[in-house]
Formats: sequence, C-alpha cells, structure tokens
Amino acid sequence: MQQETVQISKQIPVIADVDVLVAGGGIAGCTAAIAAARGGARTMLVDRFGLLGGNMGPGMMSGGVVHQALGYPYAMNGGLKGIPGEFLVRCEGYAGGQMGHQHLRDSAVGSYIWLRMMEEAKVRLLLNTYAADPLLEGDRVTGLTVENKSGSQAIRARVVVDATADADVAMRAGAPVGEGESYVHPGMTFTMAGVDLEEFLAWLHGEHEISDDDRAWAEDIFTRYFGSPVRRLDPLIPLYRKAWEMGEYWIIKNIEDIAGVSMDHGIPHSPNEYFGPQDGLVSTQIGLRGKGIRSGDQALMTRLEIGSRLYIFETAQFLRRYVPGFERSYLLVVSPYFGTRGGRGIVAQYATTVEDMREGRRFDDVVFVHYGSDGATKMEQGTDFPYRQLLPQKVEGLICAGISSILQPPSLRPRWKCLLMGQAAGVAAALAARDGVTPGAIDVKELQRTLVHRYDAPLGDRERLRELGLVD
Ligand SMILES: Cc1cc2nc3c(=O)[nH]c(=O)nc-3n(C[C@H](O)[C@H](O)[C@H](O)COP(=O)(O)OP(=O)(O)OC[C@H]3O[C@@H](n4cnc5c(N)ncnc54)[C@H](O)[C@@H]3O)c2cc1C
Repeated sequence: MQQETVQISKQIPVIADVDVLVAGGGIAGCTAAIAAARGGARTMLVDRFGLLGGNMGPGMMSGGVVHQALGYPYAMNGGLKGIPGEFLVRCEGYAGGQMGHQHLRDSAVGSYIWLRMMEEAKVRLLLNTYAADPLLEGDRVTGLTVENKSGSQAIRARVVVDATADADVAMRAGAPVGEGESYVHPGMTFTMAGVDLEEFLAWLHGEHEISDDDRAWAEDIFTRYFGSPVRRLDPLIPLYRKAWEMGEYWIIKNIEDIAGVSMDHGIPHSPNEYFGPQDGLVSTQIGLRGKGIRSGDQALMTRLEIGSRLYIFETAQFLRRYVPGFERSYLLVVSPYFGTRGGRGIVAQYATTVEDMREGRRFDDVVFVHYGSDGATKMEQGTDFPYRQLLPQKVEGLICAGISSILQPPSLRPRWKCLLMGQAAGVAAALAARDGVTPGAIDVKELQRTLVHRYDAPLGDRERLRELGLVD
C-alpha cells in the first residue's frame, strides 16, 4: 500500500549565519566544532540533548578503551595529542586518573569538559535542538532547519558537519547512505546504587561450582536467542537458570522477532575494572543483537528501546532478588540515550575496507593512521584513514564525522578514531569556509599540514611525513 503524504510549505526565521554548523554534539561533533572554531570559523553546534558528549555523555558509555587512548600503544607519538588528547587529559583531572572506570561520574566529567572547551573556543551552542531538513541549493548543503521549543528555525552555513551518528543530514540531503544492518548492536548503561560491595565482591570472588549441565543450558539459550557465544556470564549462570525456571527473569529476552536483549557485559568483576564498582554503585549495560535492527527506522527503534528499558528494570529486580549484596540496592539511573555502535552511515567517496586494514594501505589524503581488528584478526600495522571517508557522494557542502561516516565492518567506531575524525572534519570545514570552496575542493596538503603541525595528529612516522611533503 502506498504511504499517504502531505506537503508542508512555510516561512521560518533565519536565526544565524555561520561559517561552520555542526549537527550533533557527541565526541566527533564536539571535536569538529572546536577544531573549526580554532581554525577561525564562526561555528555553531546543535544537539538534541541538553548536554554534550553523545554516547560518552548522556549515553554514559564513558568506559572501554577511552582511558587507554592517552597511552594507547597504537596511537602514535606516545598517545593521542591535539584536541582528543587535550579532552582526555582534562577529563583525567576530574576522574582521578582513571577516566572510564566510573561511567556515572565520568560521563558527567566528559559533558562538563566539552562545555568548557566550547566556551573557550567560542562555539555557539543551541541545545535541545533537533537538526531537521538541510537547506539546499541544488546538491549543495547551505545550512539546516532545526526544531526546538522556539519552533522551526533556519541556520545558514558555508559548511555543515554531520556528526549525528546516523548520517541524518546526509540522508535528508539525498546523499547515498547504507543502513549498516549487519552491525548495529545498540546498548544502554544503567547504574545500581545501595549495593553492599563488600558482600557482593566477596561472593563474586568466592568459590563457584558451575555444573556442565548449567553451562550447557546457558550455551544453548545464547545460541538459540542471540546467535553468538556465551560471554561474561560467570558466576551468575546458576542464578540465571534458577530465575528462568521460576519464570522471574530471562538471561536473554526476545523483543518481538527482531532482537535479543541481555546483560551482555555481565557484572563487573573488580573495583579496577572499567565499570568499577565503588561507593555502593555498580554500573553495567544491556546489549541487543539481531538481524534487521535499523537505526534509521524510528518506529522500530522505539519498540526496541521500550523493550530494553523494561528489561533493565527486570534486571534490577533480578539482581536484588538473586545476587548477594544487592538485596537493598535500587536502580539509580538509566541512560537516556539508546546508543548504537554502528547503524546508518554514508556511502563515502572512499570507505576503508577490511582488505585495506589487512594490507595496511596508505592513502595520499590520510588524516590519521588507525589500528584495529576486522573482528577476527588484530591488525598490527597501521592503515591510513582517508579524508574522502568523511565526504558523502553526490552532495556538497557537507562533511561527516564519527559513526555517521562509517559503515562497518571493518570496525572504525572506537572513540579515539571518532575523536580523530572529528578533528580532521573541523579543520577541513574551517579551510573550506575560509576559501569559499566545498569540502571536496580544499587543499588537502594544507589540511594535513595543520593536522600534523598544529595538532600533532598521527599521520605516520617521520619518513612517511617526508614522503607526503609535510616535513623537510
Ligand atoms: C553500547 C556501546 C558501547 C560502546 N563501547 C565502546 C568501547 O568500549 N570503546 C570504544 O572505543 N567505543 C565504544 N563505543 C563506540 C563509541 O562510543 C562511539 O563510536 C562514539 O562515541 C560515537 O561518537 P559520535 O560522536 O560519532 O556519535 P554519538 O556519541 O552517538 O553522538 C551523536 C550526537 O548527535 C546527537 N544527534 C543525533 N541526531 C541528531 C539530530 N538529528 N539533531 C541534533 N542532534 C542529534 C546526539 O544527541 C549525540 O549527542 C560504544 C558504543 C555503544 C553504543
């Protein structure tokens, strides 16, 4: 059946005219805005939330490898420098040198530091504001319409940066995008308070005999519902099974026929682990897996989010009833952001392939070197990330950054890569605005020189920089 449509045409006020307009204030958008403003561009950033950081802010996903990024063995020159390094160093000052160990505290720290850096760089912010349709002149994006409590408004811009995580602007501008269905993997963090940590940790690290039968039960359920192996379940397996048999809790729960949701990161094991139980608080996350999760289908994502939020509440009740130390605990906070690890992204002018990573390929328009794995093999040699991967096809005036600019695999989503993408996008946007050209027509050598000399970005060793004509 053909979907009914309506036509809307209305006059809306133009509230600003800027050089660079960034849609989305996650880590990629924030880095891009700061880099653009430092490059001399009059810069504005809009975000649909009232706080910055995206997955690492309201998403409370501040753990993982982020604390390692400063001394990341693969990040060149002894760790991340430039705006990403500055951000992480400033966060560490408030996170006791353990950024990422305490999701609740560290996501607040991250949001705070971004606000301070925006203020210092004189980036104008418009929060609780949704980036809607782009202003278009032919195939060129010349600004955005936005929606917020003031109504519909327009903002003109020489260059727009799409850092919405789902390439919202690119999609609305008519650029080719992919749904990235093979890797969406949404997740949501929550924190339990009032946990007797002494009792919980003593139980956790005590003797646990898990029978072969219990293991086979868990294995069977995971394979049937999740289609992937059992992870991080010990020592809870017998408790999960008992609750399942009592009809009180499901180690994995189906949300319609689309996805299975589970506490896929298990329960934190030590105070030093990155979910770091401390002060009676325990944070962990639920994750969804399934074929056909499309981050660009809002009706579908709503049903999945409802299912996930119900499951988090049920998980909290399970922990209270079954896990020693949790008897007097309560659900303190659930992330308001239903984040995805992958999902919709642009079909870029050039997209890094698994083959590129296996071969450690070099590109003349490199903006940083990255390392990672294709899911199975860890790539020990670096691969160039090309500037063209930030540029959509068909549409001009637009640069993408962060997970808007990737369709996985290969995995390019880790935070330090999104930060480096944002930095490159912001520098490029400022150059395009300054020269009155589209992002595809900037002087890439000048972009690379700025990245290397101003931000100490990892574009390669001295020999490679010489080969690129960036040093003598
Ligand atoms: C569950 C989960 C676990 C993860 N674990 C790790 C890990 O361990 N290590 C690691 O390195 N990485 C991890 N990641 C990946 C990493 O967090 C992300 O790749 C990264 O944060 C993406 O940054 P981003 O700025 O591209 O997107 P986001 O952080 O998603 O930011 C997008 C921003 O855009 C805003 N926005 C979206 N649409 C609009 C719109 N239309 N108008 C206005 N604003 C909009 C959002 O509010 C948000 O602020 C994880 C991600 C998830 C979801």
